[in-house]
Amino acid sequence: MADKKIWHEKLYCHLGQHFLIDKLLYKNKTDYQEIMIFENSFFGKIMVIDDIVQTTEKDEFIYHEMLTHIPIFSHGSIKNVLIIGGGDGGILREVCRHKNIESITMVEIDRNVVELCKKFFPRHNNNSYKDSRLKLIIDDGLNFIKKTEEKFDLIISDSTDPIKYGKNLFSSEFYFHCKNSLDKNGIFVAQNGVFFLQKNESILAFKKLKKYFHDTRFYHATIPTYYGGIMMFAWGSNNIELRKNSLKNLQSRIKYTKLDFNYYNAKIHISSFYLPQYILNELDEN
Ligand code: SAM
Repeated sequence: MADKKIWHEKLYCHLGQHFLIDKLLYKNKTDYQEIMIFENSFFGKIMVIDDIVQTTEKDEFIYHEMLTHIPIFSHGSIKNVLIIGGGDGGILREVCRHKNIESITMVEIDRNVVELCKKFFPRHNNNSYKDSRLKLIIDDGLNFIKKTEEKFDLIISDSTDPIKYGKNLFSSEFYFHCKNSLDKNGIFVAQNGVFFLQKNESILAFKKLKKYFHDTRFYHATIPTYYGGIMMFAWGSNNIELRKNSLKNLQSRIKYTKLDFNYYNAKIHISSFYLPQYILNELDEN
């Protein structure tokens, strides 16, 4: 152990997680961020951006399944999807599994993330960059959403934390334009951090979203390397019925697709919208 390097995450000043670096695979600065990729004997390959864990081979399925299938099975007939960020390809892979989806636009600011993850994390995208429905755009998600005339049924914001360029994807301006780029029954979802440790970020995002979406909620999942408690996924829509599917309805929608999952299922879907009281209190929600 003594001769192995240890990497310490720098997301919080008062506590942190660390990983043994069994093998350093890549470390470099791009025009946007510093990217590091290394092997860890338990989590497999890990990608870190600006010293914050982005994704690991071992637990990525939880995050990518929950950020993708909750809105898709809630809606029931998603045709046009917009992914903002998501350069590791995990969200794209999960979206592409739904054959009824007709078009997928993905807007990632840093082409290097896409190319590096194609090389080091091939199972993340699982060849979905070759999917004929995909339009990959290299741009700041905020620039794109301000300019686009297109309408989407689903917008998934899979960004880094609200730091540097990631900040744009947690701004009121971004949420305003996402709401205007959604169909009337459209859904917006986004990663929103671990509430116990990133409370202020989550509350701020929630308050901003409520200005544009009548039905603003968080749903949650527990992701080992986004440590510190349950992780919040922001949900925004202007049709509350989309979040009220019965267990039976969800089960039949899932059965119809013949898809199988490792984390997501109909009961997890419903239960993920039930939040602990301390979070409801902080959000002034019942
Ligand atoms: N699952 C991770 C998480 O929850 O932290 C996110 C993974 S993905 C690697 C995050 C992506 O967001 C990165 O590829 C980064 O380049 C991209 N990104 C950050 N800010 C962006 C922006 N303003 N527009 C588009 N993509 C952005």
